[in-house]
This record gives sequence, structure tokens and C-alpha cells, in this order.
Amino acid sequence: MAPPLVVLDNVCRDYATGAEPVVALRDVTLTIAAGEMVAIVGASGSGKSTLLNILGCLDRPTGGSYRVLGRETAALEADELAALRREHFGFIFQRYHLMAELTAAGNVEMPAVYAGLTLQARQARAAALLARLGMAGRASHRPGQLSGGQQQRVSIARALMNGAEVIFADEPTGALDSASGREVLRILDELHAGGQTVIIVTHDMAVARRAERIIELRDGVVVSDRPNRRETPAEAAPAPAPAGPDRAAIVPATPWRARLDHFREAFRMALLSMNAHRLRTVLTMLGIVIGVASVVCVVALGAGSQQKVLANINNLGTNTLEVFPGKDFGDVRSGKVTTLVVADAQALAGQPYVAAVTPTVSTSKTLRSGSIEVTAQVNGVGEAYFAVKGTELAEGAFFDADGVRRIAQDVVIDANTRKALFGETATSPVGRIILVGAVPCRIVGVTRPQQGGFGSSANPSVYLPYTTVQARFLGSTSLRSISVRVDDDASTDLAEQAVTALLVRRHKARDFFILNTDDIRRTITSTTQALTLLVAAIAAISLVVGGVGVTNIMLVSVSERIAEIGVRMAVGARRSDILQQFLIEAVLVCLIGGLTGIGLALGFGALFNAASTAFSLHYSLTSIIVAFLSSTLIGVVFGYMPARNASRLDPVAALARE
Ligand code: ADP
Ligand code: MG
Repeated sequence: MAPPLVVLDNVCRDYATGAEPVVALRDVTLTIAAGEMVAIVGASGSGKSTLLNILGCLDRPTGGSYRVLGRETAALEADELAALRREHFGFIFQRYHLMAELTAAGNVEMPAVYAGLTLQARQARAAALLARLGMAGRASHRPGQLSGGQQQRVSIARALMNGAEVIFADEPTGALDSASGREVLRILDELHAGGQTVIIVTHDMAVARRAERIIELRDGVVVSDRPNRRETPAEAAPAPAPAGPDRAAIVPATPWRARLDHFREAFRMALLSMNAHRLRTVLTMLGIVIGVASVVCVVALGAGSQQKVLANINNLGTNTLEVFPGKDFGDVRSGKVTTLVVADAQALAGQPYVAAVTPTVSTSKTLRSGSIEVTAQVNGVGEAYFAVKGTELAEGAFFDADGVRRIAQDVVIDANTRKALFGETATSPVGRIILVGAVPCRIVGVTRPQQGGFGSSANPSVYLPYTTVQARFLGSTSLRSISVRVDDDASTDLAEQAVTALLVRRHKARDFFILNTDDIRRTITSTTQALTLLVAAIAAISLVVGGVGVTNIMLVSVSERIAEIGVRMAVGARRSDILQQFLIEAVLVCLIGGLTGIGLALGFGALFNAASTAFSLHYSLTSIIVAFLSSTLIGVVFGYMPARNASRLDPVAALARE
């Protein structure tokens, strides 16, 4: 004798609702052999569905022992029970439980996705099953376009898809008209004739009499279990090709192909569900779009302004040290400190780490050319000044060391001065004489206009040998500052220390201070970086808020689709399959939102850069990649909890909800 298919031993099922537990099944002991056709009958509420769910491993007993194919189900993990359902069981529900967004063929194929069948095998088998059930012409219809009887036939095809040995049918005719009901029963008869085990739950004795064995329940207790002499239905002509267990015909795909298939199915379901709730999906995405766009823009703005400021600093000259008299910036006495002298500059010029040195003095004088007068800054500088500052000449030449020694009345004017004195004329002013204060000076050169540096004001300024300025205008030999250009091979910081040591030795006191452009550059870089980080952190908060939105929407999505999850579990989806499906949905929402956000940020940047010249947005690839990754991560992190909740659902609890 074949081993019994299922063995129940004193199975109990209580529902702990309210103060008193509801006993749905009490001490049910029975055995069903392979190939039997069993009807479970009883009044409504007698525990029929509860018994069927336990038999089908959708539910677990609260007491007693239940063995399937010799295995104790209490010892099986959720995924092992799923495997049992997937490989050995097929379910037919009273309300069909088809997925509305899939076609008939799609519904029938679904269990095979989880069983790992190849796409071609799956489609061929689904088509064959539908054809056998007289549904060949309806394969591409959606459940909404089918009658109840047709939907039930689709659900029978789904139950047979994985070659189930046992068909569980809970009131399969309950929602059908009598003709469709008879048709469904005829199909079940056929399946039984082909060797399949069929277990039907019904409250209708007319249906039950088609079975070979009738188990009657009353208040959760088996009150009778008797063989039934079957009435052969009049219309049951010689059974056509029986649809017996044919697991041999099922060729699974290779594991990685199967995994890819699971993923594709999950992906397709996620897209279908997003499409079904477009407005909700778009609103959720909006949170992510705004978050990502603001992070990317803020970082770009930070980088852009930092570049701008650094460009300004670079105009101060590279690797330069400025030595000023006094204690620090804002030292009110610094103008009176007269200890910084030309000899200091000469001493510095002899140092190995120094590329060029220029002493500077300055004053303000009126320039005159003919009848035109203009007030200008008069800089007294050494011949190395332009080498130190990196300034370039547009015309003429700079005065040389000889000019400095001779106290020459040679002047180099800047572009502003040229414009103020000579207008936009093309003729070169080089060689002309102007009055600086009361001193006639010959123009020897014109500098190029400076591009937006700190020193680039519209104020005219001119350059004379410092000796000339000291002798003719200031009458003193002290300096306003000494500019030192550090050799490219030397460290600016070490040079600063050496300059400090040298001057302290010469002055016997620290009566000067040094501005280090490298230092300023570093300070500004770190300041703007800190600011960018701060603002980006604030923008990131909006990303988190967007993520919370995703969680919320996913929770709604899960609770809306609990029945769907139940069906998927009934046909054998693993927990990981369900988890994957919902996680993909969350990640897709975030990913699409993230990409849109990046696009928006780039578009905004293009607009901004076109509209404004003062600042520019500078996009870094890193910030874009980080934004992209973080939006994906948000999808995973914030989608995980709802997805996990979905995968942890109890199949029977999920199925019960509609
Ligand atoms: P039938 O299918 O025979 O109509 P059920 O198996 O659905 O009966 O229910 C048997 C008993 O268990 C009923 O009294 C019902 O109220 C109770 N029951 C079923 N499901 C639940 C549940 N999820 N929670 C609490 N009680 C339940
Ligand atoms: Mg029921």
C-alpha cells in the first residue's frame, strides 16, 4: 500500500481572539492516501476552511501533529512549507484570487516563476493547461474580462501549473452559477481520474456526493468519515486525456537563470504596481527628487563659490608672503611703525628660498594729463614687483633696477588709469608725460586689466620706483610692506618661518606680521568646505524626510496588497521573493526620483550659470554619484521594513484579508 499522503493526529486549532479562545478544530485525526477524492462538509463555521488551510500548509495547527509525505510540518521552516506548497499542492479558492493586473496566462505562469521554470517552458505549459481547460482563446484576457466560471478555470490551471499532486479546493463552486459549477466539478473529476488527490471543502451535499469519501465536521470535530458510492454524473463522458501529476514534464531552469527570472518577475510586479498607483508614486518620488536636487545643487554652489574665491586669491600671487609692520591686521599703530626698511628687503633677497622680493610703499596722489585729473593710488615698488605678483604688461616695459637706483620718474599705469586719462583711444600712452602730484613722470608701461581679483577695483593705480615715492612724496625710508615670492621648490610655510626668524634677528623684536597666501587659501578652502558640508547636511535632512515618505507609501502598498501576497505565498513564493518584490518597488521609486533630482539639479545649474556671472554652480561627479547611491540606499533602508513585514505575513492571514 502506498504511504499515506497526509496524516493528522489529534490536530487542534484555536484562535486566541478576545478573552476566550475560539476552538476551530478539536482533536482531528485522519489519514488521506494519495489519489483519493475527499469532500469535507459541514455547516458554515464548522471549521472546514481551517482544516483545509492546515492540510495545505497555509496554516499551522496549535496542537497535535500533522505529517505530509512522512514529514512533520511543525518542524518545517516557512520556506520549507512554501516549497511543499510550490511542488506538491495546488489551491483553488472560492473567489479565485487571481491577480487583476496579470493576464490569464500570466496568472497561470506565476507559480512556475517561483519553481524556477524557464520562460519558454512556462509559457508553453500555461498555454497547454489553458487549452486543456477550454480557455485557449482567453489566454491574454485579464480576470476582469472573464466570467466567474472562466476565472475559476484559470485558477485551476494555476493550481496545476507546477504539477501538483494534491488539489485543495475551498468552495470552488460557491461563487459560480450551476452550469459553471458543474463544469468545474467535471474538471476536478477528470483530475482525480488522472490520479491526482483532490480535497474539496463544500457545504453543498450535491457537490460532496461527487467524492469517494465524505468527512463531516461539526463545531470543529469530525462527526463522520465515510466512503461514498459515487453518483456518476450524466454529463461525465469518458474522461478525455487525464491531467494527472506530470512533474516529470517540468524542467527547471539553471539556478542563476531561475534567480534572474524571480528578479524579473519581481521587477515587473513592482512596475505594474507603481503604474497602478501613478499619483501616489509620483508624489513619493517628489520627496526624493527635491532632496537629491537640493543636495547636488548645494554642493555644486559650494564648490562653485569656493573656486571663485580661490581664483581671487590666486590673483594675489602664488606662493607669496607679505610682510607688514605692526602686530596684526587692524593694528592702529602699524602706520607709525617705521622699522620695516629697504635693508630688510635686501637681506631677504639674498635668501635661498626666495625667488623675488619687492619693497612697497604707497600713497594717494592726483594724476594730471592736460586738463584731466584723477585721483590714484601710487604704489612705490621694486623692479621685481611684477615678478612677485605675476602681473603682466599690455604695453611698454617695467622700470628696472637702474630706474630704482636713479630715483627715476618713470611710471607704469594700470588699465583703469589709462582709461581715465586717455579714454578708449587706441594710441599708446607709452612715452607721454603725466603729473603725479606735482612730479612729472614718463609713462613706460601699461598693465593688463586684472580679472576679478581682490585687488581689482575700478580705482586707478600707478607704479613708480619705491625710491621715487619715498624721496618725492613720503620723505621717509620706512616701507608699507615687503612682498616675497617664495621659490617654487620651497615650502611657503617653511619660508614664512625663515623670514620671521630673519626679521626678528634684524629687528630684535617681533614688530611685523606676515600674510601667507597659501594660508589664506587653505583657510578659505576649509571654511567653504565646512559651510558646504553644513548646508548639504541640512539638504540631506530633506532626503531623509523623502525616505520616510517612501516607508509610508510602501506600508500602504503592502497593506493594500495583502491578499496578493497571500496568493503568492499559497503558490509557493519564498519569503525572499516577497521581500525582493517590495524592495525593488521601493528602490525603483527612489532611483527614478534620484535620477530625476540629478537631472533637475543639472537643469537648474545650466539656467543659473546662464543667468548669473557672479557665481557659477560647479557640479562634481562625486556629489552626483553620492546622491545617486544615497537615493538607492534610502530605497533599501526605508523600503526594507515594509518589505520585510510583507514577507513575514502568515499566508492564511494574508489570504483571509480582501
Ligand atoms: P467554515 O469554513 O467551515 O465556514 P472556518 O474554518 O472558516 O469555518 O471557521 C471555523 C471557526 O473558526 C469559526 O467559528 C470562525 O469564526 C473561527 N475562525 C476562523 N478564522 C478565524 C480567525 N482568523 N480568527 C478568529 N476566529 C476564526
Ligand atoms: Mg470556509
